[in-house]
Formats: sequence, C-alpha cells, structure tokens
Amino acid sequence: MAAASFFRRWTAENDRILQAKSGELFMIATPKKAILQTNPKASYLAYKSEIDAAIQRVLDSGFYILGEEVAAFEQEFADFIGVPYGVSVANGTDALEIALRACNVGAGDVVLTVSHTAVATVAAIELVGAKPICIDIDPVTFTIDIDHLEAEIQYLQQSSELGTLKAIIPVHLYGYPANMPAIMELAQRYGLYVIEDCAQAHGAMLDHRKIGTWGDIAAFSLYPTKNLGAIGDAGIVVTQREDLADRLKSLRQYGWRERYISDIPGMNSRLDVLQAAILRVKLKYLNRDNQSRQTIAQTYTTQLAHLPVQLPQVAENVSHVYHQYVIQVEQRDNLFNFLKQQGVGVAIHYPLPVHLQRAYQGRVSPHTGDLKTTEQLCQKILSLPMHPFLTTEEVQTTIAELSKWFKD
Ligand SMILES: *Cc1c(COP(=O)(O)O)cnc(C)c1O
Repeated sequence: MAAASFFRRWTAENDRILQAKSGELFMIATPKKAILQTNPKASYLAYKSEIDAAIQRVLDSGFYILGEEVAAFEQEFADFIGVPYGVSVANGTDALEIALRACNVGAGDVVLTVSHTAVATVAAIELVGAKPICIDIDPVTFTIDIDHLEAEIQYLQQSSELGTLKAIIPVHLYGYPANMPAIMELAQRYGLYVIEDCAQAHGAMLDHRKIGTWGDIAAFSLYPTKNLGAIGDAGIVVTQREDLADRLKSLRQYGWRERYISDIPGMNSRLDVLQAAILRVKLKYLNRDNQSRQTIAQTYTTQLAHLPVQLPQVAENVSHVYHQYVIQVEQRDNLFNFLKQQGVGVAIHYPLPVHLQRAYQGRVSPHTGDLKTTEQLCQKILSLPMHPFLTTEEVQTTIAELSKWFKD
C-alpha cells in the first residue's frame, strides 16, 4: 500500500516536471510573435469585406484605367484635403515629377528641398532635369530650416551660374507639417513655386488648415504603408489652381488634351481603377486611422516620458498624423539591435541622408551653411512600431522592452 501511494505521488511529480519542461521547450520552440513596425495587411483585413467587394465590382466592370471610378476617388480626396482639384498618378515619385513639370520646372532650374527625406524627393527634381539643393532641418520638427532656406535663396539670387531658382519642396516628414507660413512668405518674396511633399502627411494640419492646401501644388504618395495606402503603387497631386490641374491631367497621359492629340510632351502615369476603388474604401476611414495613430502616439509619449530619450514635440497649432513615431536616443544602434532581438519592429527613417548617398554625393549640398543637424539626427533617430492596428498589448510590450533596455 505504501509503495502504491509512493508510486502515485512519484508519477504525479514526474508529470508536473515533464509538463514544466515541455512548457519550457514550447517557449523556446515558438518565439514571441513579432511586433510589426508597419502593417499594410492589417489595414486590408480591417476593411476586407468592403475592399473585396470593390475589387469584384471593378473586375466585373471591364474598365481598368482612369474613368469614372478614378475621377470619383480624385474628387473625394480633393474634398478631404479641401482643394478643388485632384489628379491621380501611378506613384508618389511621379506625383512630385508631374507637379514640378506642371510648374514648368526643368533643365537650368534649381529646386530647394531637404536631405533628410525619402530619396524620391530629390530623385524627382533630377527626373525633370533640374538641380536639387538640400537645406538643413530644424532639430525639433525634422522639417526644412527656415533661416538656412533664406540664406541659400539669397545666395542663389546673387549667383546665377547655377541656374534659375524656381521652387521649394518642403517635406512634411513623419506626418509633421513644415513651417508653411514662413515658407510661403519667402516664396512670395522671391517669386518661387512651392510644391508640398505630403507623402507622409495625409490629413495633417497646421493652424486648422490641411497640409496640401498651402503651396501651389501638393504631391501625395499612396504606397501601401502610407497613412492612406493602396494595395500597390499609387499617388495623387492636388491643387487649387485650375491651370495647373489641366496641365497635370495632360502630363500624366502623353500630354493629351484630347485622345491621341498631344499638346505638350507628357508621360504615362495613370492610376488603375482597382487601386482607386480600394482607395475610396480606405479614404472613408482615414480620419479614424489617423486618430488611432494619434492615440498610440499619446500612449508612447506619456509612458516613455521618464526615459532619457527625446520624444516628438508637437506645437499647439499642429495636428501631427504620425506616419512615424520617431524618438532620438544615444547608442541608437544598440537599442535598435536589442529591440529587434526582442521581436519589436523598429526602423530608421532614414539611415543615410540623401547628400551622403553615393548617387548624390557632392552634387546636392548647399552653398551656405551646412547639413550638420541632418547628419547628427540620423545617428539618433529610431522609428517605433506605428500603424493604426497595433494592439494595446503590442504598444505595452514595446514600452516595456524599451524600459528594460534603459534599466540594464
Ligand atoms: C514615400 C515617399 C515618396 C515617394 O513615394 P512613392 O510612392 O514610393 O514613389 C516621396 N517622398 C516622401 C517623403 C515619401 O515618404
């Protein structure tokens, strides 16, 4: 009897140990689910039934390029921004290129922009044959530095051998508006076009006024991970000027005014009906998606406040749409590797400023001042997970892992 009860206890204990061990093994074999830095699939799944229905409707229509569905999207997007005209194109780089061409910027012209941006901003300027010159950024907003911009404008006005200064492309990086009142004042004073690069700022506002309504013309990318994203490549240009809207429409399709008759040399940069139908669904939820980003940003800002990191600073007259939530930290690379190992999706936007990239080195630097802030910040910036469908748990895990790194 005693032996039997001992055996029962022994097997029970053994089971417990075995279970615990297999639990451990289970933990090792199945790593924690990684937290994605951005997640276009989640944004499809969130609106799946509507998107699937839209796709089916287009397939059944037998009509696949431009037309009514595309025109409807253009009008709805223009209404969202608060301008009369929207002209869709194939991607964000084309949007910038066609916007520049609509403003007659080309060979012999100079365009001022920033180096701390997606390389597409600078590439588009060269695509039209103009010369890009990069201006430094403000260390708080990550957008074009106004004093440096003015100094370079004054320099270029005096030395014409570089070409004619024609335009400024401010970039509303990470979803934060550039200082548009100051930029517009300079543009008016010196007779320059302003082409807003809004690829990261769909819905952002400055002084209660949408980004994209300030300049002469504004270019948006609708790449899948942007605040408004297609399921493929897409872009749109908006403007308040009818003459520019007419030129945009002509330029995106071989310079046609009427079918088969080219008035001006154009290109092919049309939007698919499929993408327009998908974008019309997603546009309905853009405000809600931006609010989700803002709520997540608020949680980060509150719960990371005690750590020795520089968090995004938002002025009172700004509505930031957090395309990215970017912190600044010393020993960024260590933290980046640590978070990656913990399964926290982080990224660096962008690791190398355009003027230091092999393709542009020595060709796009300013003649006045330097790009010191740009070069310093790119060593410290880190983009945390940010998309509208991050769960509370994912945000909390990100915060916990960050805190852990600073504690150790
Ligand atoms: C994404 C992006 C672009 C380019 O858009 P594509 O659709 O990829 O061509 C241009 N400028 C900025 C700031 C961007 O973030």
